[in-house]
Amino acid sequence: MKDRLLVVEDDLAIAEPLVRALERENLQVDHVATGEAALSRLAEVSYALVVIDLGLPGIDGIAVCRSIRAEQGKVAVLMLTARSAELDEVIGLDAGADDYVTKPFSLAVLLARVRALLRRDGAAEPQVALSEVGGVTVDRRSHRAWRDDRELDLSPKQFDLLAYLAEHAGEAVKREDIMNRVWDANWWGSTKTLDVHVGWLRQKLGEPSLITTVRGHGYRLELQ
Ligand code: CA
Repeated sequence: MKDRLLVVEDDLAIAEPLVRALERENLQVDHVATGEAALSRLAEVSYALVVIDLGLPGIDGIAVCRSIRAEQGKVAVLMLTARSAELDEVIGLDAGADDYVTKPFSLAVLLARVRALLRRDGAAEPQVALSEVGGVTVDRRSHRAWRDDRELDLSPKQFDLLAYLAEHAGEAVKREDIMNRVWDANWWGSTKTLDVHVGWLRQKLGEPSLITTVRGHGYRLELQ
């Protein structure tokens, strides 16, 4: 069965070529132009991925994303933002999107990000079902994670990142390896998304020192 995607974009000059490109990837694509329409589609249809513009008339992309996270935790969300400055502000809000792309974007980059997000449930790599390290427990089967007895509220990519770090706990993991394994095997371009996701994880773990920045290399989840 084809993966079904929802594109939420009010600018038709962006939406139309994007929808055509996604359809060429053998995906089933629906397009709506407002946050309101997106919410009503999401209530009816089970999507694998939502590509959503931040700036929409009426309910904006952040509000839609928050609602998706509250109602349907497993949908992947890729957010489109207008400028880099806006991107910084948006990721600071942690609306729960799994990745962000700044406009103007090349279709090739966007498609690579989409493929990366759709792969997240794929069984391409053998994965450790349950990791327990220090006070952190990650269960890939149920897609749940805990810090001591407290369950963590993680977006899909935050979960994947924590799971990967936990599988390599105590090791300094290279940025490129994390990007390849958690985002896409053919990743290129900015790895800022990684730093942002690490920042969120540190916050959610409640103990920033659990994840150490290894300068010029990557990150390490501490065994404690
Ligand atoms: Ca817009």
